[in-house]
Amino acid sequence: MHAILLLVAPAAFAYMSHNRLAPVRRRQAASIEMKYRVAVIGGGPSGACAAEVLAQEPNIETYIIERKMNNAKPCGGAIPLCMVEEFDLPASIIDRKVRKMKMISPSNREVDIGSTLKDDEYIGMTRREVLDGYLRDRAIDYGAKPINALVTKIDVPEDADANGRYTIHYSPNDEGRKAPSRSLEVDVIIGADGANSRLAKAIDAGEYNFAIAFQERIKISDEQMKFYEELAEMYVGDDVSPDFYGWVFPKYDHVGVGTGTVLNRPAIKEYQDAIRERAGSKIEGGKIIKVEAHPIPEHYRPRRVRNRAVLVGDAAGYVTKCSGEGIYFAAKSGRMAAQAVVKCMKGGSVLPTEKDLISEYIKPYDALYGPTYTVLDILQKVFYSSNAAREAFVDMCQSKYVQQVTFDSYLYKKVQGNNPIDDIKLLFGTFGSLLRGAAIATPDKAFSNPVESLKRL
Ligand SMILES: Cc1cc2nc3c(=O)[nH]c(=O)nc-3n(C[C@H](O)[C@H](O)[C@H](O)COP(=O)(O)OP(=O)(O)OC[C@H]3O[C@@H](n4cnc5c(N)ncnc54)[C@H](O)[C@@H]3O)c2cc1C
Repeated sequence: MHAILLLVAPAAFAYMSHNRLAPVRRRQAASIEMKYRVAVIGGGPSGACAAEVLAQEPNIETYIIERKMNNAKPCGGAIPLCMVEEFDLPASIIDRKVRKMKMISPSNREVDIGSTLKDDEYIGMTRREVLDGYLRDRAIDYGAKPINALVTKIDVPEDADANGRYTIHYSPNDEGRKAPSRSLEVDVIIGADGANSRLAKAIDAGEYNFAIAFQERIKISDEQMKFYEELAEMYVGDDVSPDFYGWVFPKYDHVGVGTGTVLNRPAIKEYQDAIRERAGSKIEGGKIIKVEAHPIPEHYRPRRVRNRAVLVGDAAGYVTKCSGEGIYFAAKSGRMAAQAVVKCMKGGSVLPTEKDLISEYIKPYDALYGPTYTVLDILQKVFYSSNAAREAFVDMCQSKYVQQVTFDSYLYKKVQGNNPIDDIKLLFGTFGSLLRGAAIATPDKAFSNPVESLKRL
């Protein structure tokens, strides 16, 4: 699907170079009596990857506050191949290697993609409790101080633009039910606390539109599971979502079956029924072992840095449209924000300013990934807007070139070796697919959702 971006926004690719961050170097501790404190709220991928960087700076005291140390975030758990190497993940984190995908159109036309993958290329399927636990433990091993607690309130100092401290109020989770609330004063604060971020509220970072994603984890028979051994399915159609896709993803010993929508959130259960129906006999008789739902941000928050408070991952709004991918961007933004904090604090000797943090974190992040968000936003608007467009989208996925560019951009977060002749062929192919799609598609069902729609920004 990313291939279309060549036609829509060719200039965007110039920015999408692979920018692996240098490994964080250990430094000798300087003799500073009182260390500055940095707290990371949230121990998901964004928080863990931020804390890992901060903990390696000996002159910063790093805290990581997580309400549930064995949290299993509602998630498909799919990660791109480049994340394994870039974040040095052990092989045991990957439960399954997806090498084939089936795209299924509104009229149930199936297109298999994946034949362009090399033998060692795959999409990694993870369990979030395992992935998050691994990343968090690594940060703690480096020296981040863990606090198992729910953050209930954050007081922003009146002189936050000078050097006043933030006060984090929290309820400990590991000291019995009657444990009193506690507080911690810190100099810098990183909000990695997901879509319902308390820090975002405390610093008045502004709102974002969000999708609601719904997933059922279904234990199917061994026979049925064989079909999904290394296969993921994506269903499109207004029956499964008016603006997203439905999925069947293979998980550790079961499948995750789900869908999402921004446009018509109250109807999410109907869309979930439809995806189960579309998957049909492939999951029939399966036992639902878990039902989960969670918001997915649609775009960045208006402010992602305010004085010495920084937002990363879902708290900042870093999920791509069209694919709904957020794990890699969470980990990457956590790492980049923490590296910016360390750099701006000059070995723990000064406090960072908002201006410093914007130029060292926000600007590089936007230069690296801004075009990706824009392009996927355009693709979602073009190809998920009607059944005719969805038919065209699946039709185009037959092209080996589309498959190659799609996988390259997803797996490696970069696009390489684009071929101008193939781009021109693709342009004509797109028109052909749109015409064919319009000829065979059934019109989308109308729905009315005035209350929810009014809430959209
Ligand atoms: C159904 C669904 C399927 C998805 N599938 C995929 C997929 O297959 N691939 C992909 O890349 N992305 C997927 N995403 C998106 C992905 O889950 C997120 O983008 C990603 O988890 C963001 O990571 P994060 O660390 O920023 O936030 P989170 O993973 O949400 O972590 C936030 C952490 O903060 C903790 N926390 C929150 N509030 C507090 C508090 N007040 N006090 C203390 N701790 C707190 C939480 O317990 C949690 O551990 C999916 C999302 C959903 C909802």
